[in-house]
Amino acid sequence: MFDLLIRGGEILDGTGAPAHRGDVAVRDGRIVAIASDLPAETAQDVLDAGGMAVAPGFIDIHTHSDFVLLVDGRANSQVHQGVTLEVIGQCGFSCAPFTGAMSPRQLIGFHDAGVDVNWRSFGEYLDRLDGAGLGVNVAAMVGHGALRQAIKCDAVDPTTPDELRAMQRLAEEAFDAGAFGFTTGLEYFPGSIAPMEEVVGLCEVCARRGALYATHVRNRDVHYDLGFTEAVATARSAGARLQISHIQPKYGAPPQAMAHTLELLDRARREGVDAAFDVIPHDWNHTSVVSSLPAWAREGGPARLLERLRDPAQREAMKHNPRPMWRLVSERRWDRIALLRSNANPGLVGMTFREIGLRRNADPMDAVLDLLAEEGEALGSLMWTSSGFDEADIRLCLEQAECAVMSDTKALNRDGPLAETIGSLSGYGWVARLLGHYVRDEGVLTLPEAIRRITSLPAARLGLSDRGRIRPGAAGDLVVFDPAAVRDVSDVREPRRHPEGFRHVVLGGIPTLRDGRRTDANPGRVIRRAG
Ligand SMILES: [Zn+2]
Repeated sequence: MFDLLIRGGEILDGTGAPAHRGDVAVRDGRIVAIASDLPAETAQDVLDAGGMAVAPGFIDIHTHSDFVLLVDGRANSQVHQGVTLEVIGQCGFSCAPFTGAMSPRQLIGFHDAGVDVNWRSFGEYLDRLDGAGLGVNVAAMVGHGALRQAIKCDAVDPTTPDELRAMQRLAEEAFDAGAFGFTTGLEYFPGSIAPMEEVVGLCEVCARRGALYATHVRNRDVHYDLGFTEAVATARSAGARLQISHIQPKYGAPPQAMAHTLELLDRARREGVDAAFDVIPHDWNHTSVVSSLPAWAREGGPARLLERLRDPAQREAMKHNPRPMWRLVSERRWDRIALLRSNANPGLVGMTFREIGLRRNADPMDAVLDLLAEEGEALGSLMWTSSGFDEADIRLCLEQAECAVMSDTKALNRDGPLAETIGSLSGYGWVARLLGHYVRDEGVLTLPEAIRRITSLPAARLGLSDRGRIRPGAAGDLVVFDPAAVRDVSDVREPRRHPEGFRHVVLGGIPTLRDGRRTDANPGRVIRRAG
């Protein structure tokens, strides 16, 4: 007797092979049979997939759900679009190791909802997450920022050899506990002040474990070539496998930046660097507002920054960042930047900064600094979004076989403690946008190939041999959807709308979405890398 049978669907097995009609049977959390006609009586539970596609559960190789999953683990925004595994700890930010010397409010995605931040080591954090009642499985990377801040807090002085050794020991501990890789956010504080030697030193630990080095590169606009060559040089010197996160260049990059970057990676691969990348399937990007400020303004953490914001001279100086995170800000393209999340000013969310400036009768840059100050010590969670990606760049990326697709967002829910939170515009509809917009409407890649980019490809990058494929013995993570109907219906004014076209989602043989409705099941677990 099978536990679950998915009948009559067009099976896309995750390898990129064309679909074939068949039934998929699951027992004890694993796929045990794939055949052309398995009778309904052979299973305790049957899901109808007639006229639909059946695919392995989708793997989001890059999210920032580290903290929010502890607030509310249901991950409805992801379950509603077929995601069964998220990879957290990206862009240098992870919730562990954590010494307690920093404010918990500085943790990535911090949400003031009574989460007791009582973990210290990476393993303790994973244990805590494992018990959070998860709607998706979670794999975790360890972030450079967390390793550095555990040793140096927010200090900006050069790292000593002793400090680097201490950071390496913490990285070893994270890998012992099951981390899948090491990440950097070299455009963000404190990655922005970390010299390459520090990053290579930590990358070497990652390389010894055969784990993945994922990097948010130092620059993706005017100095994009420095950003990408640094990533390649780091991976090459350390001997690490490289994953370039959300590779698409930003507004302000020269027109040839994307093509040049792909050539550079192609050449690196030919010379023996195991390099791949991923892309956000959206032309709007997002980040924390605070990361637009110059590094000196951040020294000492949020309390010191709030003091500086009260000092007129320092406040004025902050408006001029020689290394702007977004050229859209330094060029004052306020019509293309909108507020995405604010605890202190939820009524302004969805407005552009041009509109916010007009409403407050203030220069938009002053409005930005005011909003930061009004947010108080949790100012790190003030988020904005901008139309900063070029559609042609995204298409060019998607045409590359080694390009995975990811959300770069947080797993959220429209009810409960995270109801008012928005991670990014891609949050509720990134899979739908890939399969609806780029596959069906634009024909940039075929459906089987697009499925491969969010199943077996990310699984292979992570070294997960039993996920991302429909084959006997693989995890019983499956999604049933209608390729003709799948559609992202979210936008900047209404970013919290679930997509259309997803019928069933199954995690380890247990339905988490059934007939388009979220079930009460939260069978997700933390997956730990062995070795
Ligand atoms: Zn990033």
